[in-house]
Amino acid sequence: MSVAENLKRIKDSLPGNVTLVAVSKTHTIEHIMKAYEEGQRDFGENKVQELTAKAEVMPKDIRWHLIGHLQSNKVKYIAEFVHMIHAVDSLKLLKEINKQAAKANSIVECLLQIHIAEEDTKFGLSEEECENLLLEPSLAEMKNIKIKGLMGMATFTDDEAQVKREFSGLKSLFDRLTQKHSGLEYWLPETLSMGMSGDYKLAVDEGSNMVRVGSSIFGARDYA
Ligand SMILES: *Cc1c(COP(=O)(O)O)cnc(C)c1O
Repeated sequence: MSVAENLKRIKDSLPGNVTLVAVSKTHTIEHIMKAYEEGQRDFGENKVQELTAKAEVMPKDIRWHLIGHLQSNKVKYIAEFVHMIHAVDSLKLLKEINKQAAKANSIVECLLQIHIAEEDTKFGLSEEECENLLLEPSLAEMKNIKIKGLMGMATFTDDEAQVKREFSGLKSLFDRLTQKHSGLEYWLPETLSMGMSGDYKLAVDEGSNMVRVGSSIFGARDYA
């Protein structure tokens, strides 16, 4: 199936409130432009270098999402143009994003990554670490970031019940933190980023409103 057909099929299956981020990592500009030509505007990359290279030459109305782990020393390359950073997991990183965004006179939207999977290789905060981070007094001074919600990746498994459980746990945390900390000016929870090609339907059923889909749109990735 073509990129256009894949995109249409996925979009038709998503409720209207769910944003589709087309994960374009490893694919050529020519290939991913097919999605742009179909009206797709949210694109996700997981490496800073690849993100900046693509953003430089692709149309300026694209909203770029950095979905992978971000090192503090690379924030400066993206702070000026990135729309959303999905995998924030420390105060140190938030500080650096704020600093570089201030320099670039931009406001960067961030999601806090929560560790919901069984695997211990995946990055992210525990529920307790997340809440403690949200309550850090220094965040009130950071005027160039907005924490817009949470992001998580489920365990890579065929066990649908487990994946469902992990997603519903993240949704509960999102709801709880939304209610409990509505007074914080930098915490503006609107986005719950969960779901990839293999599990986005389950994620949407459990309350996701942003899915990050790569291979189901663009085909398998070749890391050779
Ligand atoms: C690569 C990636 C995706 C997309 O994965 P697919 O299985 O190809 O849909 C989603 N989220 C993150 C964080 C990724 O690194």
